[in-house]
Formats: sequence, structure tokens, C-alpha cells
Amino acid sequence: MSEQTQPPVLPWDSHNQKLVSNVHPQDWKNPTPVKRYNLVVIGGGTAGLVSAIGAAGLGAKVALIEKHFLGGDCLNVGCVPSKAIIRAARAAAAVREAADFGVNVPAAVTVDFGKTMERMRRLRADISPHDSAKRFTELGVDVFLGGGKFTCPDSVEVTGQTLRFSKAVIATGARAAAPPIDGLSEVPYLTNETLFSVTELPKRLGIIGAGPIGCEMAQAFARLGSEVILVQSEDGILPREDRDAAELVRVALERDGVKLLGGAKEIKLSKDPGGVRMQGKSSGRAYSEVVDQLLVAVGRAPNVEGLGLEAAGVVFDKKGVKVNDRLQTANPRIFAAGDICSPFKFTHAADFMARIVIQNALFIGRAKASALNIPWATYTSPEIAHVGLYEKDAKEKGIEVDTYTQELAKVDRAILDGETDGFVRVHVRKGTDEILGATIVAAHAGDLISEITLAMNGKLGLKTIGSAIHPYPTQAEAIRKVGDLYNRTRLTPFVKKLMGKWLSWTR
Ligand SMILES: Cc1cc2nc3c(=O)[nH]c(=O)nc-3n(C[C@H](O)[C@H](O)[C@H](O)COP(=O)(O)OP(=O)(O)OC[C@H]3O[C@@H](n4cnc5c(N)ncnc54)[C@H](O)[C@@H]3O)c2cc1C
Repeated sequence: MSEQTQPPVLPWDSHNQKLVSNVHPQDWKNPTPVKRYNLVVIGGGTAGLVSAIGAAGLGAKVALIEKHFLGGDCLNVGCVPSKAIIRAARAAAAVREAADFGVNVPAAVTVDFGKTMERMRRLRADISPHDSAKRFTELGVDVFLGGGKFTCPDSVEVTGQTLRFSKAVIATGARAAAPPIDGLSEVPYLTNETLFSVTELPKRLGIIGAGPIGCEMAQAFARLGSEVILVQSEDGILPREDRDAAELVRVALERDGVKLLGGAKEIKLSKDPGGVRMQGKSSGRAYSEVVDQLLVAVGRAPNVEGLGLEAAGVVFDKKGVKVNDRLQTANPRIFAAGDICSPFKFTHAADFMARIVIQNALFIGRAKASALNIPWATYTSPEIAHVGLYEKDAKEKGIEVDTYTQELAKVDRAILDGETDGFVRVHVRKGTDEILGATIVAAHAGDLISEITLAMNGKLGLKTIGSAIHPYPTQAEAIRKVGDLYNRTRLTPFVKKLMGKWLSWTR
């Protein structure tokens, strides 16, 4: 195995042994390639796995190439480990907040961080058979472990073997970007690739980047007991989200003890006997803080290097591989899906892009990426979830909207749960009930947003949502109440007057 194809180093316990035996078995022997594949997939993360399994299920001869771990970021160093840690952090927070519910717990409650991380490794290993080399082989996919590289417009090389293809998919994903921060290259730092291998809780954890990953990890590590300093950009935390939605999360982060500092761009890093020194200015005031560990979570860089894209005639830039709406690259034989080509860097987006690729690559498909309604969620407490247009997007596109917002403070279940920080906001095309976008801030916003996504997919308007009975008491009632808000606007003074007349006649 060449150095490039070595998987990342993990703490070597039974859970990680199980994980590796599934996602990069050390005794794996690559198969002998067939003369030509219907589909060669480079990259075994979500986009690659879904492309491979979907195509093989339809009877195509498929090769899947993965250089590190099958499952990609999501299983190994992304969604799965981060959400396992967030769950543990929620348990710690629940204990701390138990007194609010009249549940008295002894004062000296401690977090066993080693056990938290062990639980994460165990669960990750338990999930890993689903993405395993064995499972994919049994489902008819030829699995090659090694780095894939195009050698010409219709061939890929992996560990010295040549794989010829009719169609190919580039699904090589993205990695943590190394931003141009003064001193970054001189200090040790963690990224998502190494964070989940930490076995001791950092006493002081610095995080640069207050996007979804930075915010989720800041809150989780603060709840687990780290002193967390989160450095955000001038735009504040979660810059993509509505400011009032992000503000609710900011308040929650500070409540959990996260110290927020501004000016990520002007930060200077240097080595310090105590760890890493972070210096900069926040709201015009200079700061200088030493942290034991530093996590850098400032955007993602596409994995385009070493792929032979030039030899294949595939056009790319620093944002990734260029594709058209049918996810086809400049080489019509080659498609791309997932983080490598999309601004929507989410597992479910990679999954649905892969489904488009299967249709368009193997058949005379006309499926379009722009037709997808892609929701997303940030798993802080409270969560923020969004789908479709923000009000600012609508403005930019010249679309007039009516906006309906239901505060959770007026939803009984949220009151009873002690989870009133949040709202459901839906934008509809002006004068209609056609849903164009929605933002939800709530404890389980990531679950709630699917109702709106479904409505958008099925072209169901806000009126229909208002007429769907939701069980009482649930937080999902907030969505129905937004429907009620819309329906009330239909009651024009004229209609109200008519109804009043009718009722007085029929008294
Ligand atoms: C900390 C963190 C938390 C996240 N949480 C969430 C979440 O909660 N929900 C969500 O939807 N998304 C989340 N994401 C994003 C999600 O992980 C990605 O969007 C998703 O993994 C993208 O899938 P992909 O298949 O495009 O790429 P990847 O998962 O990155 O897979 C690409 C694969 O290609 C392989 N590869 C690269 N180059 C080559 C080559 N030359 N030859 C062979 N193989 C190659 C890589 O080793 C990798 O396995 C999170 C990400 C991070 C980092």
C-alpha cells in the first residue's frame, strides 16, 4: 500500500478494530477488473456508496474505489461521531438542568470523557457493517481499496490495475480547509479528521470557525466540561442562517459556557508552553488566550488533488468539480456527486445527488439537481433547520413573499418541555400559500423540517398544513399553527362581514 492510501491512524481498541475490519479490511485483496464497467465510482463516502449500490441493484457492473475508509466522512469523522458526542453532551446538560424540573441530583456529577468517546467508537463500529467492503461485495460491487486516478477520459488506475468504464462518478468529497490564518502552520491543531480520536477532554479548547461544525462541537465540548473559546467571523455565528435564529443559538452557547470571540480573520496563532496561544481583536478589544487543543473548522476544501482530472478532461476549480444541472462534468462520461461538486455539503444531499447520477449516467435520464429541495440542520441545542429560500434569497431573486412566524413560547408542548427558545417561520409566495422556504429553531428542528420539505415536494400549500390534524401536545403543532396564521389572512374584512350577516340571519 502506498503512503497516500494509508487510512487515518485511530486509537487501536476493539471498536476501531471492528470499524476498520468493515471499512478498510487490512487483508483485503482487490478483485480482478472486468473488461469494462458500466460505472466506476471513485470515493466510498455517501455519494459513492449510494451510486455504487443503486447502480449494482439495477444490474450494472460497478467498481467502487476507496482510498481510506468506506463510509467516508459521515461514518468515520463526521455526522456519526459528532452526533454521538452531542448526545452524550445533551445527557450532561440534562443532569445539570434537572433541578429546574424538581429533580435534585448530587452536586458532584462528573463526565467520564473516556467513556463518552468509547461509546461513540462502539456505536460507529456497530453502524459500520452497513458500509462495509463485505456487504458491498455481496451486493455485486467490485470493491477496490486504494487511491483512484484517471489516466485518460475512460480509464481509472487503482493500485496498478486499470479499470475501463462507460461512465464514472467522482465522489471524493471534501476535507477541512486550512485557512490563511497567521501562524496556523506552526501550531498543532485538530480537524474533524483527528478530533474524534482524542481520548482526553481538553481542559481549554479553542475552536476557529463558528459554522455548523464549530458551533455543534463548541456546545458539546463545553457541556462535557471543556472551557471552550469559539472564534467567529465578523458575520457572527452560523452566518448562513437568519440572524434571529442564530442569535437564539448564540445565547444557548453562552449559557453553556462557550466564550465567543470575534475577528477570526485577524487571529494570530503561536506555540505556547501551555499549548496554543490565540491572539486577536474582538469588538475592538485585544485578547490573548492559551488553549490546550485547537480545532479548526473553517470551511471545506474539495478533494480534487491526485485524481488525474486533467487527463480525464474534467474541469474543476478551488470550489470543486464543475458539473451541470444533470451532475455531468466537462467529460460527458463522467459525473460527480456529493461534497466534491456541491455547495450543499450534507450526507442526505450527497445521497440524493447520487440517485440523480444513477438515472442520468446509466439511462437517458433528465433528472436535475436544481429540482431537489435540500433541507439541513445544525444539531446544537436548540437545533436550527432550514429548507428552500431565506427571505434574503427571495429578495435577491426579486420574489415577493409573505412570512408567517410562530413562536414556540406559545406552543403548549414547548412550554411543558422547557424548550421555548425557538420558532417556526415559513415564507410563501406573496398572496398565495405556495411554500418557498422555512426556518425552524427548536429542540428537534431537524426532525420537524421534514414536514415542510414534504409539503414543498408534494406542492402542498400552507393551507393544507393548517388543515392537517397534529396530535396535541406536540412541538410539531407549531407548524400547523403557521398554517392557521395563513388561513386567518384569508378572512378578509369582506368575507368576515358576509359571514357575520349569515350568522345573524341563521340565529
Ligand atoms: C464534523 C462533521 C459533521 C457533519 N455532520 C453532518 C450531519 O450531521 N449531517 C449531514 O448531513 N452532514 C454532516 N456532515 C457532512 C457530511 O459528512 C458530508 O456532506 C458527506 O460525508 C459527503 O459525502 P461524500 O460522499 O460527498 O464525501 P465523503 O464522505 O468525504 O467521501 C469521500 C470519500 O472519497 C475518498 N477519496 C478521496 N479521494 C479519493 C481517491 N483519489 N481515490 C479513492 N477514494 C478517494 C475519501 O477517502 C472519502 O472516503 C458533517 C461533516 C463533518 C466534517
